Amino acid sequence: MQADVLIVGGGVIGVATAYALCKSRSDLKVVLLEAGEFGAVSGSSYGESRMYRELYSSEYCSVMQTEALKLWHELERESGQQLLKMHGLLFYERRGLSHRRYATAAELQAAYPVNAKEGYEGLFENGAGTIKAKEAVAAMLKLAQQAGLHIVQGERLTCLSVLAADQTREGRTIMAKRLGLTVGAWTNDVLAHIGMTLPLDIWKVHWGHYYVDPAIKESLPQWYKFGKLQPDSWDEGLYYGFPPEASEPVVKVGVDFAPHARSCRMKSMHNFSYKPDAMVAASLDTFLRAEWNGFLQRRDLYCSPYTMTADGMFILDQLPGFPQISLFTGGNGRAFKFSVLLGRCLSDLLLGLEPMFDIRPLSARRKAVQPVHEEFAYGFSEQLLRARATDQVSMKAHETADQVQQKGKRITENVRHQWDEVDQKFKVSEQLKTARETVAPVFTKVNTAAKQQYSKALENERVAAAAASVGGGLAAVNKFLGSWGSYLKGQADKVGENVMNRAGSPGLAGRSTSQTASPANSAGSNTQSSRSTVTSTPGRQEASRAAAGAASGDAAGRTPAVLSTGQPAQASQPAAQPAAQPAAKLDEKLFTLDDLSSDDGGSPTAVKGLADLKVSDPNPDASKRGG
Ligand SMILES: Cc1cc2nc3c(=O)[nH]c(=O)nc-3n(C[C@H](O)[C@H](O)[C@H](O)COP(=O)(O)OP(=O)(O)OC[C@H]3O[C@@H](n4cnc5c(N)ncnc54)[C@H](O)[C@@H]3O)c2cc1C
Repeated sequence: MQADVLIVGGGVIGVATAYALCKSRSDLKVVLLEAGEFGAVSGSSYGESRMYRELYSSEYCSVMQTEALKLWHELERESGQQLLKMHGLLFYERRGLSHRRYATAAELQAAYPVNAKEGYEGLFENGAGTIKAKEAVAAMLKLAQQAGLHIVQGERLTCLSVLAADQTREGRTIMAKRLGLTVGAWTNDVLAHIGMTLPLDIWKVHWGHYYVDPAIKESLPQWYKFGKLQPDSWDEGLYYGFPPEASEPVVKVGVDFAPHARSCRMKSMHNFSYKPDAMVAASLDTFLRAEWNGFLQRRDLYCSPYTMTADGMFILDQLPGFPQISLFTGGNGRAFKFSVLLGRCLSDLLLGLEPMFDIRPLSARRKAVQPVHEEFAYGFSEQLLRARATDQVSMKAHETADQVQQKGKRITENVRHQWDEVDQKFKVSEQLKTARETVAPVFTKVNTAAKQQYSKALENERVAAAAASVGGGLAAVNKFLGSWGSYLKGQADKVGENVMNRAGSPGLAGRSTSQTASPANSAGSNTQSSRSTVTSTPGRQEASRAAAGAASGDAAGRTPAVLSTGQPAQASQPAAQPAAQPAAKLDEKLFTLDDLSSDDGGSPTAVKGLADLKVSDPNPDASKRGG
């Protein structure tokens, strides 16, 4: 890219310079390069407000502000925006100043909610006020763009060379005839590329917002407090505050010093930490509680850089030895209010014009900002080493970033895959849930029916057992009667035999023949053959067997029906009872029913499937009792 003028650094000074340049020379190609945001939080121009004032102990600053105010009003007219709010500024301190309005602490306290101690006095500058900082940067940027400004944003100047007219460079370069350097606290990082270092210090300053009691909101002025509270303390006692915004009871306050003792001063932004220092934060809290009424809790706290010179004055000049380069640096925590004027003067320098305001007090050649030789050499080599180290770190960071990106991709894919799986499982689980809801009532019905069947079976079993018991009793009676009959028959046989025997004796034979007529007897055979016929009669054989059995038990080993006492035997239990058969079958049924509600391996497959659903038994105790 080619440019007539390149401005590096889009803080308030860079933007003001671009605005002035584009406004005065629309025929030139002006490029503004900014590494981050315009008025970035990392730089010195960040925030919603800045104080302006004409009351300075330095007359030069006072006059410069008067001139700057003319340009601020011009900017307000051009942008159609109100960028300044004139509401005065209250200074209060021990020492006397040329203007005094509040001669005593009592007068101060009567006017403001401030706890001014005995011996304090206050001075109020009517013409001071607040610049809407963020809006001012935006307004100038917009006007500059309208006048043809080219913006390159998000890119950092990493190499600066001054080339001969016919030299070119590889890579992404911006070739410009003139360079305006407005990089604030990063000035020495850029100058290191051309072997230069300026004697600048960087201060880390704290500022933030506090909630205030809405009751005192209207009476809070813009204020500035001078003075150390403790003589030997690192706390320099310089604090300031703005009036609250109309929208909410919140005020912006700040600490206007950077204690050495708290590592708040450094040479390079490489050592700058944006993390607030706890002690400084605590001292701000303590100060506000002690000095002002109605301050509530802190809302936020920021750290920003001040770029400081030894004499507290800015540097605005051509860079010694480099007529192509002009720069502004060393804002010293107060350049914002002059920025429109400083930008105009820098623009004049870049165009080779006499600056509209006398900038000789801001010369880069003045004693206070001249680099002494040792410092120069030391600074250069240090910067060079740091630049190399930074380069290596940056390459390493690139590699690591690539690896992290690859890893990130893999993780993302993995997560997506897992998500799909989870999604799938979720769908299946939903289906199972639905199935379970459908099957559960059916299963409950089946279970209830099974229990009813089981109860009936139990009842049947009891009936069958009772029947079997009755059957057994009847069999015993039957057997007893059989035995008794046999016994009686045996007795009858014996009696018969006796009768027969007696009939064989005289006087009884005829009677006997007539009483016990048998086919053999009626055939008229002789007495001997008749007797043998009698012994072969079944009745007689049975009787004799019964008689023998009564003495020693029968050959089949059956229990004799008649005991030796001659009493009938008790009916013994039947060896096998036909009535027990149904009970055995019931046992089998019981087993099947029990299995229905179990989920062990022996269950039928269909039932096992239901058990997996863990359908709960509606009446588990009852089922336990049943099983
Ligand atoms: C907290 C605080 C309160 C202040 N209060 C007041 C006040 O009330 N009144 C007042 O008048 N002044 C005040 N000031 C001072 C004033 O705000 C600053 O002096 C002024 O903003 C300085 O602006 P700048 O453009 O020089 O620097 P910055 O605003 O710091 O701008 C420098 C820019 O350069 C960019 N940059 C750096 N290196 C590179 C690179 N290599 N390539 C590209 N871009 C780069 C940065 O990103 C940055 O945006 C205050 C300052 C601070 C910090």
